[in-house]
Amino acid sequence: MATFSFVQPSTTDEALAALRLGEPGETMIVAGGTDVLFGLEGRRIPLKRVVSLRHLPWKTLSWAGESLRIGSTLPLRTLERDPDLRRRIPGLWQAVRAVGSVALRHRATLGGNLVRSSPASDLIPILLALDSEVDIIGMEGERSLPVDQFVRASRTTALGSGELIRSVAIPEARASAFLWQRVRPANDISQVGVAVAYSPSRKGWRIAVGGVVPRPVLLPQAERLLSGPFPGAAELRAAAQEASMRVPFATDRRATEEYRRQLVATLLQRAVRAAGSHPSSPGVP
Ligand SMILES: Cc1cc2nc3c(=O)[nH]c(=O)nc-3n(C[C@H](O)[C@H](O)[C@H](O)COP(=O)(O)OP(=O)(O)OC[C@H]3O[C@@H](n4cnc5c(N)ncnc54)[C@H](O)[C@@H]3O)c2cc1C
Repeated sequence: MATFSFVQPSTTDEALAALRLGEPGETMIVAGGTDVLFGLEGRRIPLKRVVSLRHLPWKTLSWAGESLRIGSTLPLRTLERDPDLRRRIPGLWQAVRAVGSVALRHRATLGGNLVRSSPASDLIPILLALDSEVDIIGMEGERSLPVDQFVRASRTTALGSGELIRSVAIPEARASAFLWQRVRPANDISQVGVAVAYSPSRKGWRIAVGGVVPRPVLLPQAERLLSGPFPGAAELRAAAQEASMRVPFATDRRATEEYRRQLVATLLQRAVRAAGSHPSSPGVP
């Protein structure tokens, strides 16, 4: 039976030092473990150590004025239960609740979701729409990247060897919404997810779509067709049409490319209406 050491650092320095031990590929990083533990079997490089991030002081959530910073190892269930999240960033709250089951969300983390970087992720579209930034730390120092530059393809990100995600920053609370479609809502992943957010400071919408290959994407051409916080039916239809044509969908066992295009058009219109009617939306007292 394969044996490995289990390292549980309690400081950032200890964690970064643990990542430098051994040869590349011998160390596995675990946060909630809901994804990575499935890959234990069939590893090409024998596992020498597992570094757990659970004891790091990163399970944080802090509001500073309109902005929010979420520690990468905060369980999604804790994030979902923050008393302000649903009111101030409804789209993020909806996206968090879309991830798996309550039991799964007690373990799963935002950092793990970003690094897994699934095309069907429920969190990446809303993080894109909210102009979120990933705060990265490594032995060489710290850096920050927009989610759009961080996520590249399935299981491929801009994270370098020996680097960790420490937190994710959302610059301003916004009227927002996330809608998704699944075959079996309770235990499947989304065929398509649509995230929208209206930024009062930029006076514009962001639209992001998941269920797309090779990764969730922003749709700037569709965004530009929405002129204000409460777009009319014609504008919404035009943006939906643009979005459904623009996105590089694939056909797989969950849905056909054509069905995904229709879903995006429908969900986009519903999501913008839902965001505009939310109590946190601009202009709604
Ligand atoms: C039954 C089931 C249902 C699911 N349903 C959904 C769903 O509906 N929607 C959805 O989006 N996802 C879903 N997932 C996928 C998964 O649960 C999520 O992506 C989850 O957020 C992963 O977080 P984690 O902390 O468990 O990651 P882990 O499994 O611990 O780690 C995942 C990857 O991220 C790396 N990692 C973790 N944290 C860090 C960090 N801070 N810095 C650097 N690297 C890090 C790990 O090394 C690993 O490569 C589901 C998974 C399962 C098993």
